[in-house]
Amino acid sequence: MDKDSQATTKGIELAESLGIPMVIMEPVKGGSLASLPEDIGNIFKESNKDASPSSWALRYVGSFSNVKVILSGMSDMEQVEDNLSTFDSFTSLSGEEQKVVESVAQALNSRVQNGCTACRYCMPCPKGVDIPGSFKIWNEYHVYGNIKDTLRRWNEGIKEETRPKNCVECGKCESVCPQKIHIREDLKRVQREMDVLS
Ligand code: SF4
Ligand code: SF4
Repeated sequence: MDKDSQATTKGIELAESLGIPMVIMEPVKGGSLASLPEDIGNIFKESNKDASPSSWALRYVGSFSNVKVILSGMSDMEQVEDNLSTFDSFTSLSGEEQKVVESVAQALNSRVQNGCTACRYCMPCPKGVDIPGSFKIWNEYHVYGNIKDTLRRWNEGIKEETRPKNCVECGKCESVCPQKIHIREDLKRVQREMDVLS
């Protein structure tokens, strides 16, 4: 999912060409890739009905030859056993499997609501609205559909005084957004949708 953000894949490939071993953190994206929306999870199932979504994520990062350590947080025995079985009989992704991963990533990315890159050019908002923080949670809610995780992040990460409802629609942020995002409209959608979820 993040292979084009910052120097993810390019960075790994550069390290590979220089013979630098890599340690990978958050291979399952904080658990987001472990429980995918059903229709997207089915893309993996059609390729291999027995493989868990997490195993695809672990095999994806493990397929880079210079990745030597993969650190994955686990919260129950089922996850421990699943991860162990992935590495017990580890095989790199085949070319066909790489295509499956690519199609899952495309399907997930198609659910992003706006192209906020968190550049923060729009900040600070004179009314204190956390614009990129709100958009990040909102976009990831649409991508992964994880209501529990979304509400936890919203309630812990976006304080009342920084929520979109504080926007007075001055337009300052939109005039500097390089992505030309309709920030005011999207902030209204974020607030509305989070209110419904809460
Ligand atoms: S339009 Fe709203 S979010 Fe944007 S700068 Fe003005 S108050 Fe802040
Ligand atoms: S300027 Fe636009 S892209 Fe950058 S953080 Fe603000 S909303 Fe996101």
